[in-house]
Amino acid sequence: MAEKSKVAFYWCASCGGCEEAMVDLAEDILQVVEKAEFVLWPVAMDFKREDVENLKDEEILVTFINGAVRTSEQEEMVRLLRKKSKILIAFGACAYTGGVPGLANCYSREEILNFYYKSGDTVFNPEDKKPTPHFIEGNFAFEIPEFYGRVYAVDQVVDVDYYIPGCAPTRKVVKNAIDALFSSQLPQKGSILGASSKSLCNECPLNETKPEKIYVKKFKRVDKTQPEPDKCLLIQGYPCLGPVTRGGCEALCVKANYPCTGCFGPLDDVKDYGAKAVSFLASIIDSNDEKEIEKIIDEGLSNPLAIVYRYSLPKSLIFDTKIKKNGG
Ligand code: SF4
Ligand code: SF4
Ligand code: SF4
Repeated sequence: MAEKSKVAFYWCASCGGCEEAMVDLAEDILQVVEKAEFVLWPVAMDFKREDVENLKDEEILVTFINGAVRTSEQEEMVRLLRKKSKILIAFGACAYTGGVPGLANCYSREEILNFYYKSGDTVFNPEDKKPTPHFIEGNFAFEIPEFYGRVYAVDQVVDVDYYIPGCAPTRKVVKNAIDALFSSQLPQKGSILGASSKSLCNECPLNETKPEKIYVKKFKRVDKTQPEPDKCLLIQGYPCLGPVTRGGCEALCVKANYPCTGCFGPLDDVKDYGAKAVSFLASIIDSNDEKEIEKIIDEGLSNPLAIVYRYSLPKSLIFDTKIKKNGG
């Protein structure tokens, strides 16, 4: 029997959904098991950090990292896995562009710690304790990971070979990516694996109802009104980001009557997804009057920053360049 390739999975600042995506492979995971020997998979198997440290450099064929990087432990593990792996993959939106945890970059470390350890409604902390990397309790000295001043996408910490998009990546995308990895027909370094190179609209079943030009006088919210089922959501006024989002998910959200929020990230050659989304939404607002535009945005797009940067604030070229690691 051919020797199996070593494969590792690791999770950083993650909700666990990307780990679920692996399990969602169901019987297809047997194909992976046939070819792979797992050397690290904290959510499923009991390996220790020293098991990875004991491997030779580049002994792991491929490591999948999900989640963004927020703590010193995550940074150390990502650097260690980079050293031990031939191919390192940023798996899922959090690893690829910072994801939902990246929205925490709207706040400083101090603001976050104050909320969770002091001012939050359910906080009871009479001694005003906050986590610090080194502390002494009784006769014992403890060390816990340091909480950094911002969230990083994985390629802001180490070199990344490939990206698998999605929050979470769908079963089909994961399967396509794994097939590409084991087929030795890998694309150019830095490519997106498993997804489409075209926009989501190209695979959306409502695309034929979408006219060439769209103008919106009022944005609608799905928590307030129910979209009509068989009509492009954008022409109905719902801020669907399908036109600026990479396809590959088969329009999962739209099929559930919910506008695309952009989890598959930017199309090729777009460096800042949020900036592209802003420019797209601005281009469809049907007004040239500044006050009216403000009103359309205020009434229909609650928290515009979170709409356009829901998955990619740490990779924004416009925002977030000043908060340094370990800074407040
Ligand atoms: S990309 Fe989505 S599913 Fe994956 S870890 Fe991040 S939040 Fe969870
Ligand atoms: S519903 Fe969204 S994804 Fe579908 S065609 Fe309209 S804009 Fe594109
Ligand atoms: S429709 Fe948009 S938000 Fe939903 S899974 Fe697809 S890319 Fe992600």
